[in-house]
Amino acid sequence: MTIESAQQTTKTSKRKTALITGGSRGIGAAIAQQFANSGYEVAFTYRSNQEAAQETARRITAETNLPTSAIHLDLEQEQTIAPAIQQAVGILGGKIDVLVNNAGYADMSAPAFLSISPETLKRTITTNVIGPFLVTQAAAPHISPKGSVVNIGSCLGNRVPSRGLTSYATSKAAITGFTRGLARDLGELGIRVNEIAPGSIDTEMNPADGPASDYQRSTTVFGEYGVPDDVARAAVFIASEEASYITGATLAVDGGTNA
Ligand code: NDP
Repeated sequence: MTIESAQQTTKTSKRKTALITGGSRGIGAAIAQQFANSGYEVAFTYRSNQEAAQETARRITAETNLPTSAIHLDLEQEQTIAPAIQQAVGILGGKIDVLVNNAGYADMSAPAFLSISPETLKRTITTNVIGPFLVTQAAAPHISPKGSVVNIGSCLGNRVPSRGLTSYATSKAAITGFTRGLARDLGELGIRVNEIAPGSIDTEMNPADGPASDYQRSTTVFGEYGVPDDVARAAVFIASEEASYITGATLAVDGGTNA
């Protein structure tokens, strides 16, 4: 089936819909919340903690009065991708207005280059690059015309100011290329594709009291970490009609780290 024919045949929900990967915690949970706050029906994916994910979905539904769903997806298990997207499309009434590729992995132990194991490299590339690529291929036939894809990259995809981040930086630089190419490929359908490149955001992946946190704070203009809502508000903006002439772009949300 071509993307165009699938767009024509899907039954459509009137409410705006958003699918967010890795929405059980951290930046993804904030993105799910902010899209729901903006009137979107949200489905988000989780990998490991079903109970926590369902609690997040219940909380968002209670706060917004909008149905919110948690769906299992493990980007390292390729066979889970197509069923998860099909499930999301069914839940969201046959269409996805916004897809946010947020789920990601980083080895924060900052290993020396020669110590990066093939397993870590494969996990990083599979989760951060191949996963979003395959998710987007599965979702694209269901993304609305005038819909939007938002890829969560990293400021480390552009500049790498410290050691031990090579596998992660490699994966996030690929997200920039993915965003540019996809903007061309999906643009003729009216679908916009953009990247958000966060800097130091206080989450389990990169806690504001972690080992390298003082250094990270020192690289920002404000001398402080950002919070997940900083990224989430930018995601809602760049997916919205307000950003209708923005595609193939990277929006830094890094407190000036890469300035
Ligand atoms: P967290 O580690 O707090 O959350 C990661 C999320 O990704 C979780 O929901 C996790 O699910 C999910 N996930 C991880 N591996 C997989 C997988 N194999 N399959 C499916 N889901 C998976 O990270 P953040 O919230 O900090 O990061 C979110 C995004 O932002 C990532 O892409 C990250 O690279 C990016 N980023 C973060 C920055 C930061 O400073 N925090 C800076 C720049 C970019 P589960 O809980 O089920 O394991």
